[in-house]
Amino acid sequence: MGLLSGQKRTNTRYLIEVPHEPDECLWVMDEIIGRGPQYAHMFWWGCHVGEHRAWALLDGPGREAALEEALPPVLRSRAIVHRLSRVDGPGLRARHDEQEEARR
Ligand SMILES: [Zn+2]
Repeated sequence: MGLLSGQKRTNTRYLIEVPHEPDECLWVMDEIIGRGPQYAHMFWWGCHVGEHRAWALLDGPGREAALEEALPPVLRSRAIVHRLSRVDGPGLRARHDEQEEARR
């Protein structure tokens, strides 16, 4: 599927968030390391500052595909998948104005 490299760039990303308890860090890390170094490299961790979550930002054709790419099955049910979109400067202004208009 090529989620990790080379695919066409889109303005949609999926932020995979893996919340866990302080006593689960090593287990979560083991599961992610166990998938291979390219997977370990994708994740950012908050554990060292007491924010027990790991995050990875992926391209992908959809929520489920991103989740399957990022995580082994045992971690998927606890993950939160955020769908994010990038908006360029003029697009952001247009979106702002639409929301402002809607409030009137
Ligand atoms: Zn942790």
